[in-house]
Amino acid sequence: MKTKQTIVKQQGSGEPTHSFSCDGGSGSYSWNEVTLCNMLKNEVYIGNTIQNKKTVVSYKVKKIRTVEKENQIRVNNTHEPIIDEDVFEKVNSILEKRGTNTKLKYDYLLRGLLYCYHCKRKLQIVLKKNSRRNSKSHPYITCVGHKSRGCYPLSINYEKFEKHILYIVKKIAKIYADKEVFYSVYEKYQNKTLDIREGFKKKIEKIEKAVFEINSDLDKMYMDKLKGVLLEEDYIRYSQKFIFERTNLMKQKEELQQRLIQTEEKISYKNKTKEEKELDELIENFLKLEQIDKIYLYRLINKIEIDKDKNVYIYFNFSKLNSINENLDEFIKIEEIINENNQKRKVV
Ligand SMILES: [Zn+2]
Repeated sequence: MKTKQTIVKQQGSGEPTHSFSCDGGSGSYSWNEVTLCNMLKNEVYIGNTIQNKKTVVSYKVKKIRTVEKENQIRVNNTHEPIIDEDVFEKVNSILEKRGTNTKLKYDYLLRGLLYCYHCKRKLQIVLKKNSRRNSKSHPYITCVGHKSRGCYPLSINYEKFEKHILYIVKKIAKIYADKEVFYSVYEKYQNKTLDIREGFKKKIEKIEKAVFEINSDLDKMYMDKLKGVLLEEDYIRYSQKFIFERTNLMKQKEELQQRLIQTEEKISYKNKTKEEKELDELIENFLKLEQIDKIYLYRLINKIEIDKDKNVYIYFNFSKLNSINENLDEFIKIEEIINENNQKRKVV
């Protein structure tokens, strides 16, 4: 493989002891995603200095030999970190888990996030040519090996798809960042969830009451049977009916309790402030980006599924973003109304 290096002078010493390897990069040191990926993998940015990482064999021809890990000299916290250590570790674990290869000549931004809605497998991006002669090839998203699994071929133009996804994600991020817009809709959904929870609780209470009444009826009937007021065969007939009813009620109660637990989880306040702070910072930085890069995108989005009708399902890592995504039309409507009102106020 062709390897290109950029020599970076270490501050103070004047010796070119550090070099950042940009395998497969374009060669020029541009602030692109490959650089950022490498940067996030490079410990120097979190304040650790590794000496002797690369030995310059000949400065002129820039031939560089990698020194084995054990021969490297590591000094931790030698300078103010550029990247937060938490972020550094998080990103590296994400990239490792996804097997994202930054050594590819061109790594598609969404590679690693795309999944088939039907067979749940990772989707591939392949270069395809139009039927026209001498036409340029374009990347297409496809479910490789779909035939053998009885899945769908899914042929989607990657470039257009990426634009579309970035448009939606930016829109959602903007809505989240505008707290006036966000909370005017979100609160409503939160309140709705609270109402739903109360509804479940009341239904469960009602069922418990009905079960209690059935039990006391059964007790009374049993006493009547003992006293000889109720015939044995009538007792059996009635009690079977009551017991059947009670079993049904217990099943209903179980179902309601399950749904109540799910609702409670939705309104759980656990780690809420920590998550909120993390998300606020993430969105703020994300919106500042001129060019979107993987690091931010992968922290925001868990996965994207595509179905055979080209419907797209974006799963965010944050429940608030999922809530915006699920009710996007309503959020956009509110955003328009609020913006209109704000403009009117400015005019007056
Ligand atoms: Zn599939």
